[in-house]
Amino acid sequence: MKKILLVLVLLVAVSPVAFAWGRIGHQAVAYIAECHLNPNTKAILLDFLDGESIVSTSNWPDEIRFTDEYIPGREHSKFGHSAFYTDDNKVIWDTKEPSAVIQITQIQDKYKDGKWRNYPREEVKRDIMYLTHAIGDMHCPLHVKRTSDTNPRITFYGNKTKYHTLWDNDLITRLNNWSFMEYEYMLGRLTDQQVDQITKGTVADWGEDIARYTKIVFDWVEPGCELNKVFAYKALPIANHCIQYAGYRMARYFNEIFK
Ligand SMILES: [Zn+2]
Repeated sequence: MKKILLVLVLLVAVSPVAFAWGRIGHQAVAYIAECHLNPNTKAILLDFLDGESIVSTSNWPDEIRFTDEYIPGREHSKFGHSAFYTDDNKVIWDTKEPSAVIQITQIQDKYKDGKWRNYPREEVKRDIMYLTHAIGDMHCPLHVKRTSDTNPRITFYGNKTKYHTLWDNDLITRLNNWSFMEYEYMLGRLTDQQVDQITKGTVADWGEDIARYTKIVFDWVEPGCELNKVFAYKALPIANHCIQYAGYRMARYFNEIFK
């Protein structure tokens, strides 16, 4: 057991891609989405996922990296987990690294207007599993990478960490301490008008929206700074909004593809 844990710790330490939102955050996004799917979309997703909830697939693109199924250079290693934007919040379409915004947009174009029916079941299933994760990833402020953004070392409640890690997991798990279902209870009560407002636009627009938060949260820190309650209670509403937006937008995305 110790050996397995050590291997996992080492893999996480050397992994170039951080885990946006961690397990709970991704499950929360997917559960909010699932609660706002229309019945037809929900039935189609359940069919493709062999009866599993999108909550259970929402961490698959991160977790597959630790299984025998994962082979570097193969398809799974090319999943985009981040979105790339300029410093003035414009999406970059020509990226060296795989971009979540580009891949999510491409899958939308590929399947829209009923075209999903023309593809092999396993391919659609694989893309759905990726989407249940990637739409969450691109809503984490530190996964929208603007050209000059870095990942400063900081101290959070006395623990040395990196700013990216704080946004991926430490902030929400330390302060919210909610189950994934409780996120829906707390954040899933928007009016139809509010939902229309936050889900309008393209996938690239959604990323641009998050890039504005990215700028704000980078303005709050400098390398080596110590962050505590004053920072945490300022930052938490942004994290919760991003999870809420991701959930409603994921629902909209699937509802539109499978309408
Ligand atoms: Zn990810």
